[in-house]
Amino acid sequence: MPLPTTDTVVSYPAGATTGTATVLHTETLDSGLIAVLLDSTPCHPVDAGWPDQGPDRATISWEQVNSEVVDCVVAATDGIRLYLASEIPVRKGAEGWAFVVAHLVEVAPPVGTEVTVAVDAEHRRALSLGHTACHLASLALNRALSDRWTKELPTDALGSPNFDQAANDTSTIVPGGSFDTYRLNKSLRRKGFTTEGFADALPAVTDAVNAQLADWVAAGSAVRIDRDGDRLTDRRSWVCALPDGEAVIPCGGTHATSLSELGTVTVTLELDDAEGTPVLSMRTATA
Ligand SMILES: [Zn+2]
Repeated sequence: MPLPTTDTVVSYPAGATTGTATVLHTETLDSGLIAVLLDSTPCHPVDAGWPDQGPDRATISWEQVNSEVVDCVVAATDGIRLYLASEIPVRKGAEGWAFVVAHLVEVAPPVGTEVTVAVDAEHRRALSLGHTACHLASLALNRALSDRWTKELPTDALGSPNFDQAANDTSTIVPGGSFDTYRLNKSLRRKGFTTEGFADALPAVTDAVNAQLADWVAAGSAVRIDRDGDRLTDRRSWVCALPDGEAVIPCGGTHATSLSELGTVTVTLELDDAEGTPVLSMRTATA
């Protein structure tokens, strides 16, 4: 059973939660789980480089068997070996490498089998809402912090200094929301970010972000994913036609199709200290 030579076709960016596929390769891992590679999948894997959105919950079915997908990760192969997640030694799109979705299961179908992949649609939807809210909140935060910059900074799609891009340290999508951390370190301050009086300003910043989010959600703008192709490593972007302009953010995750699906979006901001470095955290929630 040779390893695949092309990237997996993925249907989750278009919102698919079910699909049929052919088993291309299976391989037992040290953990005892089996990695199943398919020609196509609706199952969103956790990304190796930017693991913000976790794996879908899914089941692979064939004949009388329903096998739970215990984990789903991005993997890569040079045709000789399969490298999972953080073991991948090359950059996405490297010449001679195929990037694939590895479904980790306890019971694997034989190679060549036609299988059905069914994703837990409710869990996916909660993550999609959380991911869209996360992008929207980052734009609102950039705008609310725009007067704290004393130097020119690359701007986001709406023309605000891109604080999110400059300072984001971790981003985690959770069902219905997200959790982001931003390091307000020396290098950020050198770029012109003013931390003076920031703790006192937090309530006002929070209010400004939440007011902006309420305005945007009320507009009910459409959200879509633009993509260069239907394979795992093809470039994809989140596009939202906000009243103030079209926002485009590179993104490999899944999303709502309209801001009206989010209900209400609110953030809470907190300022902590990590060994002398101020860290801003933003928790985003939909309701
Ligand atoms: Zn994203």
